[in-house]
Amino acid sequence: MIYTGGTIGMKQDEKSLALVPVDISQIQEEVPELKKFGYSIDTYSFDPVIDSSDITPAFWVNLCNLIKKNYEKYDGFVILHGTDTMSYTASALSFMMEDLAKPVVLTGSQLPVGMLRTDGKENIISSIEIAAAVDETGHAMVPEVCIYFESQLYRGNRTTKYNAENFRAFRSANYPVLADVGIHIKFNRSLIQYPKRWDMPLKLRTKLDTNVAILKIFPGITPAAIDAVLGTKGCRAVVLETFGSGNAPTTRQFVSTIKKWVKKGLIVVNVTQCQAGKVDMGAYATGVALREAGVVSGYDSTTEATLCKLFVLLGRYSSSAMVKKELQKCLCGEISIK
Ligand code: ASP
Repeated sequence: MIYTGGTIGMKQDEKSLALVPVDISQIQEEVPELKKFGYSIDTYSFDPVIDSSDITPAFWVNLCNLIKKNYEKYDGFVILHGTDTMSYTASALSFMMEDLAKPVVLTGSQLPVGMLRTDGKENIISSIEIAAAVDETGHAMVPEVCIYFESQLYRGNRTTKYNAENFRAFRSANYPVLADVGIHIKFNRSLIQYPKRWDMPLKLRTKLDTNVAILKIFPGITPAAIDAVLGTKGCRAVVLETFGSGNAPTTRQFVSTIKKWVKKGLIVVNVTQCQAGKVDMGAYATGVALREAGVVSGYDSTTEATLCKLFVLLGRYSSSAMVKKELQKCLCGEISIK
C-alpha cells in the first residue's frame, strides 16, 4: 500500500482549520480491519505526502520506479491518492507501465479516514481485496491500472473526477465498470484486459514530454486566444476539446488558424467536451473541416487519458508522424477501437 497523500489521510489543522496531510501510521490506526486480512500488507509512504493538486509527472516517474523495484515482491499494489488528480495519475501510469500483469489500484476518499462517515475505510479495504484477488489459475483477477471508488472498480484511463462532493466521485462514461462491489465482488471478466504473457518483465516508459496544451473551444473564441495556446513556446501537441461529436466553428478564420498550426507541425487531437460519447469527424461539416485541417481524432478518450498518452508518446518519439500513428491505436484500453 503506497501512500501519496490526499483527503483520505488528512485532518484539520487546529490553527488554520484547513485540511493537512497526516502520516500513514495514523491511517493504519483508523483502519484496524487491515490487520484482519489474511494477506501480508507492507506500506510505503512518500515523504512529504502531498495534496494531489501538487502531483507532477516527476512524481509519476517515482511511483513507477517504486512499483518496478517491488514488482516481484508483491501480488498487487494499492495507491492512496488524492481524488482531484487521481484520473490523471491513473491514466499516466497505464501508459507508463507496459506488460503489466499485476493490479495497481488507486483509491482515496471524499472524507478523511478519521471521520465518522468516512468513505475511506471501505475504499481501502475493498481496494486491497481487489489487488489481492486471483483467478482459478492463480493469476491476478485485474492486472490493470484501476481506480476503486464507492463500490465500483474502473479502468483508470477511462475515468474522470466529476463530483466534488458526492461519495461517487468518479465516472467512466465510455467503458463499463470492471467490477461491482456489493455483498460479493463481481468482476466483469470479459471487460478486463489480460496480458498476452504473464511472465513478461514490467517495462517502464518514464521519458515524458509535457510540451502539451489543452484548449477548450467556446462560442466566440478568438483567433488570438487560439494562437496564444497553440503557439505556446515549445508546444508539440494540443488536446482540442470540441463540441458534441467533435465539432467546431466552420468560419474560415477558425479553421485556417488551426490549419496554420498543424502545418507548422503541431499535433492537434480532437476530444469531445461532452461527458460521454465519441468524436466522429465525418458526422458533420463542422467536424469534417477539422479533419481536413489535419486534426487527429481522440475517439472516445477522456482529456486526462489523451494528455497522458501524448506525454508518453512525445517522450518516446521525436517524429510527429509516429506520435499521430500511435495515437490512433488503443494502447491500454483507453479508446474503444482495436
Ligand atoms: N485535495 C484533495 C486531493 O486531491 C482532495 C481529495 O483527496 O479528495 O489531494
